[in-house]
Amino acid sequence: MTGLTVVICGGGNGAHTLGGLAPTVEGVDEVYVLSTFPGEAGKFTAAAAEQGGEIHVTRTKEGPNGEDILVKGKPTKITDDPAVVAKADVIVFVVPAFAHKGYLEAIKPHIRKSGSKGPGGRVMLGAMPGEGGFDIQAQHILGSDIYNNISIFALETLPWAVRISQYGRSVDILGTKYGVDIAVTPWNMGRDVTAVMQRLMANENPKLSLVPSLLTITLSNMNQVLHPAITWGQYRSWDFVTPFDKPPMFYEGVDETAGNMLWKVSDEILELKGLLEFKYKLDLTGLRHIKNWLLRSYSDNIGDQSSFHRMINTNKGYQGLVHPMLETGDGKFMPNFGYRYMTEDIPVGLVVTRGIAELAGIKTPNMDTVINFGEKVLNKKFLQDGKVAGPDIGMTRSPQAYGIKTIDEFLEKLRY
Ligand code: NAD
Repeated sequence: MTGLTVVICGGGNGAHTLGGLAPTVEGVDEVYVLSTFPGEAGKFTAAAAEQGGEIHVTRTKEGPNGEDILVKGKPTKITDDPAVVAKADVIVFVVPAFAHKGYLEAIKPHIRKSGSKGPGGRVMLGAMPGEGGFDIQAQHILGSDIYNNISIFALETLPWAVRISQYGRSVDILGTKYGVDIAVTPWNMGRDVTAVMQRLMANENPKLSLVPSLLTITLSNMNQVLHPAITWGQYRSWDFVTPFDKPPMFYEGVDETAGNMLWKVSDEILELKGLLEFKYKLDLTGLRHIKNWLLRSYSDNIGDQSSFHRMINTNKGYQGLVHPMLETGDGKFMPNFGYRYMTEDIPVGLVVTRGIAELAGIKTPNMDTVINFGEKVLNKKFLQDGKVAGPDIGMTRSPQAYGIKTIDEFLEKLRY
């Protein structure tokens, strides 16, 4: 890896972090931060200039003796001009999923067709996080020859819990995930693309694990299972009028019925996995049932394993988190359904999985119950007559939103 030019798309917590880390990496020549969000590039540039253009990234307590580690990196330029990707070998989206479409459309005319120093002479284009059908959307927008000169990749999540401490200047990594899955299409670029992304994070942590298919990243997104079903569980019998005295606990408030719903939604995804592996010979290694995922991610932190909902209630990693709420002004609270738990994890999560299940002929009554609840609180319609065909599917990344009608067409188009 030598002489790479990297373009980071975004301007928030994650973009500040990668924008500070990537310029310190050997083999990286230039790092551009591209923000097409109105006014952001100018604001970011001005703030960074107060510190000589350097972004300071603090890895909290990650030193050998638990001390903080400070990394200082200076991006070549922060810009709002999508044409900057014309020289990019690596393009990384570090923004919430709803912003991916705008970036894909903006950079499309500028992505170079040849001369990339990326693995295989291809431009690397991906998202962190890139769950919920990032590649389905990218293939649709960039066109059918996307796989000729581009390696598409997606990380299952952002590798860090991270917050900007001073806009444009400093950011704090509060925690680094232990392991993060990544997938790449075409598959034979997987190892090299993974190695570049591992290097760009300027640390051996988190350890990136290559899984065989981008479909695994879409289907194994646990946020799509956890957030909507837990929200359904909390409000399933509520009258949608009476305010709350205090915000209800998010994970600690999961009761047996909600726990069963999480379990059954996860069962439906595993049934889809089984069919895709058996009938279509896909390798979806890395896609786990929620119980196994929870044990793998949090084993030592789980106090009571006597039932599934108690595992969630007693996971130390989940303690203290409450449902997103809005204060009513008189000391009471109403649910905030405009939070990403619903606005992202339904359209760019569960509806995508539901759409794939539909193509594969898998019935999903439990997923449908949660999606129907999401439709109600978001005032959107994704399902119609039992199909992903509602008037609002355009805001989803389901195959149906892109006119894909059969499982064969889906698997062929996405090169799964
Ligand atoms: P963020 O909230 O900091 O991102 C905000 C940025 O998104 C803005 O600065 C802007 O660049 C862009 N943006 C916002 N609205 C836009 C619009 N209408 N059009 C175009 N661009 C727009 O996000 P983040 O914290 O960097 O996280 C990135 C993703 O990773 C999110 O999906 C988040 O849920 C996920 N994530 C974040 C963390 C974390 O600790 N920060 C942890 C896990 C996952």
